[in-house]
Formats: sequence, structure tokens, C-alpha cells
Amino acid sequence: MAMTKKAVVIGGGPAGIKAAHGLAKAGLAVTLLESAPVLGGLASSFDVQGVSIERYYHFICRGDDDLVETLAEIGLQDRLHWKDSRMAYFVDGALYPFLTPTELLSFSPLAFHDRIRAGLAVKLAQRQSEERLAPLLAIDWLKAQFGEKAYRVIWEPLMRFKFSEHAETISAAWIWARMVRLSRSRRSPWREELGYIEGGSQTVLNGLGRDFEAKGGRILLKADVEQIVLDGGRASGVRVAGETLPADVVVSTVTTSRFRQLTPRFPEGPYLDGLRRIPTIGIFCLFLRLKESVTPYFWVNANDPRVPFAGMIEYTNLNPLPELGGDRILYVPQYLSAEDPRYAQDDETVLRRYCDALALVNPAFDRSWVRFFAVFRDRYAQPICLTDYRTATPTIATPVPNLFLTDSCQLHPHDRSISGSFGLGKEAARLAAAAAGAPAR
Ligand SMILES: Cc1cc2nc3c(=O)[nH]c(=O)nc-3n(C[C@H](O)[C@H](O)[C@H](O)COP(=O)(O)OP(=O)(O)OC[C@H]3O[C@@H](n4cnc5c(N)ncnc54)[C@H](O)[C@@H]3O)c2cc1C
Repeated sequence: MAMTKKAVVIGGGPAGIKAAHGLAKAGLAVTLLESAPVLGGLASSFDVQGVSIERYYHFICRGDDDLVETLAEIGLQDRLHWKDSRMAYFVDGALYPFLTPTELLSFSPLAFHDRIRAGLAVKLAQRQSEERLAPLLAIDWLKAQFGEKAYRVIWEPLMRFKFSEHAETISAAWIWARMVRLSRSRRSPWREELGYIEGGSQTVLNGLGRDFEAKGGRILLKADVEQIVLDGGRASGVRVAGETLPADVVVSTVTTSRFRQLTPRFPEGPYLDGLRRIPTIGIFCLFLRLKESVTPYFWVNANDPRVPFAGMIEYTNLNPLPELGGDRILYVPQYLSAEDPRYAQDDETVLRRYCDALALVNPAFDRSWVRFFAVFRDRYAQPICLTDYRTATPTIATPVPNLFLTDSCQLHPHDRSISGSFGLGKEAARLAAAAAGAPAR
């Protein structure tokens, strides 16, 4: 009788859970290893005074098909809700709603002709092709489409917020793909609809984890993989807690920099060179539970020299979280390079500085509104989409037989997302199952 093939998946974020689930469905004996005490990775939740809430905000767009399919597969489709969403700009001391054509036409930080040009530019941009935009730099392209002034007011905050000092290197295709993704969520010129999952992303991640275990899969938490074992040029297992766990196939879903640490004997060549040159950026995010709402908007981009962040997300304006009894959840994120000294700021200092800025956005805001706060720091939160991503992105199948890798850079020019990571995990499972001689179902 044929022996059941063994698979090890490293990382219990969305990509890892999905890959492990797919491999278990294909009939492999799968072990999922996660270094943290909980599943979820960047999409994990934490305890906020008895309520479990995501460390970072997560919204869903129309077109996030792998996420929608996964919810349906595990019978949780009823937990996905869609809601009208509103966004605004805070520019030099004033808040401007910024979604509908009427709001755009009344956006006084820009001259009237710049507003018209910006509206047309968004429409025209969506008709462009990825192929043409990939080699262009986003900032040059945005300035050419929108004009210098509109670039400074509308786009610079987003570029600064997402990429910090890497903004000058981003491919125009990345910003185009973001426009296309959000445009799919437009129900009409006056309405944008975003999705959220009741109970947060952990609803789908824990649901998938349970289904994985029901299929015979094994989840080990607090299992920090130390090394991927390469034997005779092939992956043959992993080292964890000083022990070797043998495997016929290994799927890594950790960041490319962590992957390189796990594979000190990975063969030199173009693949490893590619992994070495993918820049990444980290995230620094203040989480607030407040007793009052700061603005009626889900998303506010900030462009004011006195405000030390470029955006804020009042998550309860999308997902009402009734279990909070009317309290509000506000995320104030900032993407920073791994070496940025701001990671070292102590939590109280961050809270004080950000509260001062929130009082500029809403003069009624008072520190006494804060019922709970936390500061999250992840030094590797997203890969940077450079202009050569079409040729430089590493494939899921590595040159080492039986070793597979997923990373959000494989989604470029699209931004990373839970749905995208599910897609990568599904494909990794398909390839790894085939390598083990058991095609994924
Ligand atoms: C601020 C912010 C906002 C976001 N907003 C959205 C949004 O609105 N919508 C959306 O769809 N997506 C959003 N995302 C993106 C989403 O969270 C990520 O795309 C997704 O979590 C990536 O999943 P992953 O499995 O690829 O990686 P990760 O979530 O990074 O998972 C990797 C896992 O590997 C584990 N690990 C690392 N090293 C080891 C080791 N040696 N051994 C074992 N385990 C290890 C880590 O602990 C982690 O759990 C957001 C992300 C951030 C940071």
C-alpha cells in the first residue's frame, strides 16, 4: 500500500492556512507550523477588553474572489457583509468628503480645472494596460495624468503613507491596479461598497483551520521553524525546536527575508538573487478604542504638515462591531522601513502625539475618549512593487525540488490582500501536491 505523503507548511497566515487546507484535501498528511501563539499572521486578532478584534483593519473589495469562494467552501458565506463606505481628505486643517462627483467638484484645495482633470484622469487611467504601465514610475505617471498640484494634494499622501522613502521607486502599474480594485467596488458614481467579515478575518481563518484539522491536518502554534532541511539538493523537512520534521514537500509562506534565513544552503543563482532584491516595508499602527466617533468616514487621507500620519481608518464606520456597545475602533497606520527609528518610540509618546493630531481633525476630540489603546509594529508588512516586477518576481516553485514559496510580491502589481494570499496558498498546494504525486482537489 502506498505510504501517505507528508507536507509541512511554514506560517499560519492566510497563505499558509489555505495551502495547508489544499494539501490536506489532496490527501497528504500536513503539519502547519506557526511561530506565533495564534493563527492569522498580519490578519490575526487580539483581545480588546474581552472582544477579539483585528490588529490591523481589513476590508474586502468586489473581485476578492478567492476569499469569497473560501467562505462559501466552509459554509461561512453569510458572515460576509457589504456596506456603503465613505472617504475624505484632511487638508490643511479642513476635512473634505471625497467620493462622489459632486464632492470631487467641490474639493476646494484644488482649482476648479484641476478637479475636472482629476476626475477625468481616474476614468482614463482605468482603461490603460498593465503592460504599458509596468515599466513607468508611479509618481511620474500620476503627475502627467493628474497635474503637479493634484498629485501633491491627492496622491502624495497615499504614496508617502504606503511606501515612505520607497515612493520614488514604485511602478505605475501598482497604483493603476489599486484604482482598478477600488473601482470594482463602485456601485455607481455616488456609491462605493466595501465588505467586512462578521467577527473579523479570524472568522474565515479559524474556520479554515478547523476544517483543515477535520481533514486530519495538524496545527502547531509557537512552532518557530529554524531551518528548511535540504538533503541531496531537495527539501526533505524542517528543523523546529531542535528536532527535524521530515516532509516530502515543504511550503514556505513567510517573508522572503525570513525564508533566506531559513535556507542558508539555498543554491546561488537568479532565483536567490531575485529574493535578495525585493525591498519590503513595515507597519507601525496605533489602535484605539474610543467612546466617540472622530469622523463619519471609513478612510481619511491626511495632508497637513502638523499631522504625523498620512491616513486613519475608523473601522466601525464599516463594521459596526455591536459587541463594543457603541464604542468606536480607529486605526492610525504608517508604513515605515524596517530600520526607521520611529519603531522605537514608546507607546505613550505615540498616543500623545497622535491624540494632538486627532484634535486637529476633530476639535471635540479629547484624550478621555480613549478607552483602550495598543501600538503594533511589524517590520515586514509588504513587498515593494518595482518597475521590473514582471520579470523579477520569484515563482512559487523554487529551483529546489519539493520546496515551494509564496510571498505577496507574487501578486504584483496588485496590492497584497487576504484574498490574494488565499490564491497563492491554493496554487502552492496544487503545485506541491502534484510534486508529491497527489494532485490537489
Ligand atoms: C496595516 C495592514 C492593513 C491591511 N489591510 C488589508 C485589507 O484591508 N484587506 C486585505 O485583504 N488585506 C489587508 N492587509 C493584508 C493582509 O493582512 C495580508 O495580505 C495577509 O495577512 C498576508 O498573508 P500571508 O499568509 O501571505 O502572510 P502573513 O500574514 O505575514 O503570515 C505569515 C506567517 O508566518 C509566520 N512565521 C514567520 N516566520 C515563521 C517561522 N520561522 N516559523 C513559523 N511561522 C513563521 C508569521 O508569524 C505569520 O503568521 C493588510 C495588512 C496590513 C499590515
